[in-house]
Amino acid sequence: MSRPVFATIDQQALRHNLAIARQAAPGARVWSVVKANAYGHGLARVWESLAQTDGFALLNMEEAILLRDSGWRKPILLLEGFFHAEDLQLIDRYRLTTSVHSNWQIKALAEARLSAPVDIYLKVNSGMNRLGFRPEQAHGAYQKLRALENVGDITLMAHFADAENPEGLIAPLQRIERAAEGLAIPRSLSNSACTLWHPEAHYDWVRPGIILYGASPSGDWQDIASTGLKPVMTLNSEIIGIQQLSRGDGVGYGYRYHAQQEQRIGVVACGYADGYPRHAPTGTPVCVDGVMTQVVGAVSMDMITVDLTSCPQAGIGSTVELWGEQVKIDQVAKAAGTVGYELMCALAPRVPVRVI
Ligand SMILES: *Cc1c(COP(=O)(O)O)cnc(C)c1O
Repeated sequence: MSRPVFATIDQQALRHNLAIARQAAPGARVWSVVKANAYGHGLARVWESLAQTDGFALLNMEEAILLRDSGWRKPILLLEGFFHAEDLQLIDRYRLTTSVHSNWQIKALAEARLSAPVDIYLKVNSGMNRLGFRPEQAHGAYQKLRALENVGDITLMAHFADAENPEGLIAPLQRIERAAEGLAIPRSLSNSACTLWHPEAHYDWVRPGIILYGASPSGDWQDIASTGLKPVMTLNSEIIGIQQLSRGDGVGYGYRYHAQQEQRIGVVACGYADGYPRHAPTGTPVCVDGVMTQVVGAVSMDMITVDLTSCPQAGIGSTVELWGEQVKIDQVAKAAGTVGYELMCALAPRVPVRVI
C-alpha cells in the first residue's frame, strides 16, 4: 500500500448498535437507514451486518436495486419517495415501499400501470417545512390514495426538525395528531434522536440512522456515552515526518500555528482530500500511539501536523487514529464546526477500507 491512511469498518459494532436501537424501541420494528451509501460506510460492505433489521430505508434507486440484487427480500423504503413518475416502474419491479409527500405523486400513482399494489408512507410535514402534506391536507391525501388500486398498505410518516431537544417534539406531535385524526393507520416518526430519547414517538416503525454507525444525533458524543453504542468507522494513518521546532517557528499553510517553545511536530499522512475536515483547528483531538494529543496548524490536502509533546516516544511509522474508538468522530466534528454525519459521509474514495 502506497500511503498509510486507511479506514476500518467494524461489522460487529454494526450488529451491536442495531441491537441497541432495538432495545431502545422494544415495541417497534426497525428501518435501518442506509442512505448516502450507508452514511459513507459503503452499502455493499455493511448491509449484511444489519440483516437482522426489519427493513432498509434509503433514497437512491441505485442503492435499493443493489440491495435487491444482493438478495435482500424484506422491505425497502424510499425515504423521499419517487422523483419522477417513471420511477414507479422500478418501484413495482423491485417491490419497494415509497413515501408520498406531494399531490403530483398521487396523480402518478393513479395513472401508473403496475403489477401489484405499492405500500405507501404518507409523509406529513411536522413543521420542519421540507417534505410532506400539511396536517389539514393529510386526510384528503389519504382518501385519494386509499381509493387507488395501485396502493397497498398506508403508513403515516413524519420527520422532526429538533428531536435532540427534550421539548422539541411537543408542537410537531400536535400537528401529527391533527393530521392523523380518525386515521387508524400505523405510524413511523422516529429518527435516531427519537429512538433514543423520545419513546412517545416510537409507534410502529422507528428509523434510526446515525446511531447504527455509533455516533451521536446531537453532535455531542457525551450524549450517547452511556448507551453502549460503538463507533463503526475508524480512520487511521501514520506519522511520515518529524519536525523539531524552535520557539516562534510556524507550521503549515499560512503559518497558522507558531511554537511557543521547543516542540516536536509529527506530520500525518491524512488531509482534507481523505475526508479529514479542513476546518479542524489547532486543538482538534487526535491519538498517536494510543496517546491523546492535538492537531496544530492548518489541515492541508494530504497532511496534517500534530503536537508530539505528550508522546515523546512517537516517531516515523507511529500509528495515528484520526477518529474511532479513542477519538470520537463527534469530537473531531465539533472542533471543526460540523457533525459526525458529515465526516463519515465525506470519507474520500481514495481511502482504502478494511472490513473486520
Ligand atoms: C436520514 C433520515 C433518518 C435517520 O436520521 P438519523 O438522524 O441519522 O437517525 C430518518 N428519517 C428520515 C426521513 C431521514 O431522512
